[in-house]
Amino acid sequence: MAKKFKEAQARLFTNIYVCRKCKHKIRSTSMRVLEGKTKCRHCGRRYLRPKKKERKIL
Ligand SMILES: [Zn+2]
Repeated sequence: MAKKFKEAQARLFTNIYVCRKCKHKIRSTSMRVLEGKTKCRHCGRRYLRPKKKERKIL
């Protein structure tokens, strides 16, 4: 159970970004975000931040 929960959490929080402007969630890979290919569907801005608070990978 615990393991399954962890996996689900990883799936939910990795590759999810939040628009800094309108706070909408966008699912994308970090690579696409860094390349500037991902933009908010709602407001069209590219100001995104990872949903995860930890930024150890970056
Ligand atoms: Zn937005």
